[in-house]
Amino acid sequence: MEAWSDGPHELERNLERQMRAQERQLAWVRLGMAALAAAFLFAARPDIPGREVLLGIAVALIGWSLLVLWLLTRFPAREVGIVSTGIEMAAVTLAIYVSGAVDLYLLYGLVILGAALRFGLGASVWSSVVMAALYAAVVLSGGSQGETGAEVLPLRVAYLLGFGVVAGLFSRIVIGRATENARLQQLLTEEERDRERIRERELLSRLGRDFGASLDRAATLEAVAVGAAPVLGGATLVFTVDDAGRRLRPASVAGPDGELAEKWRAFATTRPPRLGEGIVGGVGATAAPRTGQASEIATGDPDGMRALELDWLVAVPILAGGRMQGVLATAGRADRPLDDSVRRMAEAVAERAGPALQNAQLWSDLQERMSREQAAQRIKDDFLSIVSHELRTPLTSIQGYSQMLEARLREELAGESKEMAHLRVIRSQVGRMRRLVDDLLDVSRIDRRGGVSIEPVDFDLADEVRAAVDRVAREHGDRTIGVEVQGTLPVHADRDRIDQVLSNLLENAVKYSPDGGPILVTAERRGSEVEVRVADTGVGISSEHRENVFERFYQADGDAGRRRFGGLGLGLYISRAIIDAHGGRIWSAANDEAPSGSVFGFRIPRVAMPLAPAEIAPTGEPPPFVVRRRDS
Ligand code: ADP
Repeated sequence: MEAWSDGPHELERNLERQMRAQERQLAWVRLGMAALAAAFLFAARPDIPGREVLLGIAVALIGWSLLVLWLLTRFPAREVGIVSTGIEMAAVTLAIYVSGAVDLYLLYGLVILGAALRFGLGASVWSSVVMAALYAAVVLSGGSQGETGAEVLPLRVAYLLGFGVVAGLFSRIVIGRATENARLQQLLTEEERDRERIRERELLSRLGRDFGASLDRAATLEAVAVGAAPVLGGATLVFTVDDAGRRLRPASVAGPDGELAEKWRAFATTRPPRLGEGIVGGVGATAAPRTGQASEIATGDPDGMRALELDWLVAVPILAGGRMQGVLATAGRADRPLDDSVRRMAEAVAERAGPALQNAQLWSDLQERMSREQAAQRIKDDFLSIVSHELRTPLTSIQGYSQMLEARLREELAGESKEMAHLRVIRSQVGRMRRLVDDLLDVSRIDRRGGVSIEPVDFDLADEVRAAVDRVAREHGDRTIGVEVQGTLPVHADRDRIDQVLSNLLENAVKYSPDGGPILVTAERRGSEVEVRVADTGVGISSEHRENVFERFYQADGDAGRRRFGGLGLGLYISRAIIDAHGGRIWSAANDEAPSGSVFGFRIPRVAMPLAPAEIAPTGEPPPFVVRRRDS
């Protein structure tokens, strides 16, 4: 923003202005008097001694007065004043000398008064001394023929000196008043400016807030035009850069002159300025502010200054992050002359509009990218869902037929056989495959619906834990699985889903303890919650992976782990979704009671409180795990 003008300089300028005006008045007075004297000499007193010379002096004074008017336009008033005083003194002295009219000494009074008004007391006294001396010199040299100048000389010298002092004192009062007035005027102007500055600052900070209030680009563009219009010209238009067409397009318009605003918008819509063309286009191309007046309309009138009868047009760039966001243009007709504050305010408004428009642009880019990503995610989820559904059907029939075959073989062969062993392998592998497919199906449901749906029932979690441990212990006869559960743990939760979590944690504990270390399961009440922990002494998880094992498809040791243990990395992801759906939490930690191994645990409220669908607010973030009724 432009620097505010400083007080002392302004005061000096004011005083100079006043002195110049005063000098001009003195020149006119002098001119009038000289003209009168010339007329008098010419017409009334043809017999006066030295008449020609006196006439010459009067004419010279007229010429000098006219010259002063011109000199004042080129030189400081003070210097012109000094020279004027000197010339006046010389003219009066010469007139007395030539005419011998010693009474003309009275004219010195006027010269002294002039010096006093121009330069104050000191100059007045000094000029009176000089003039008294000049007068005495003329009288004593006998230049005043036929007069009794010498006798009254002391009286007249005393008069001149006395007049010098009186005129000086008088001027002190007059000059003091004038200076005081100028100072007061200055003070008032400064106060008015301060108030103006505060008003502008308040307005700009309000505009800054208004511009950032919305992340919608169209709303922000509207806010810029509407907010800025009252402090700018008759109409204000915000243009945005259309990169493809290399043109500027009007985006929003406002202004106290509604008719002009509408006409301007219509003009700019039909003839959007090309970058580099006219004032607005020039700002778009150079990113430097420009001002145009009606007298300098560019060829072809690209800004519509003639068509819209504009008197002036100011355009400033709206920049942010090193990029041109648009151009703010404001214009007025003859009824609203351009003043300095318009350009300053336009720049200040554009400075605040830039970041707001950039944020709106970033937000709309982000929204677009997110919706593209969501669409891609949906396609992937649909694919997963379809494939797992299709795989499930043949697996179910393979499992059924292999069971039938096994039963028939048992009947026919009545005992163990090689074929039966093969069939058992087929069944267990198909079972494994089904579990994988079920996991995939679960994951696709979680992702598509934003969570797992649960159907809470009343049951005893202690019983459930014991049953799960028995089941896993039966499947892995060689493993030691201990249980520490006190009494009963009644809960209101989804039994099948909790069982799924227990199985997953137990299976993992077995799978990731390849050397067959002991496993311990504990379950207990914790206030209004129940907690289950599964501790193993297996391979453990390094701390950098621990937080991530609940992510989709995450496996702690990457490809090495996958090759060694198999699996898809989905069990814990699904378990977390189930526990989240109950309003609980699941975690993993190192097993501190053993040299290696991990502890996986979860806590759920004793009464699961499914969320109502209305409480699920769309956030644009990855879907939270929420509870829905099971519908398939
Ligand atoms: P999966 O076992 O099919 O790979 P999970 O989601 O059940 O998938 O587990 C994710 C990863 O967490 C596993 O790949 C494994 O690296 C790690 N993990 C899970 N449970 C244990 C455990 N008890 N001990 C060590 N690592 C484990």
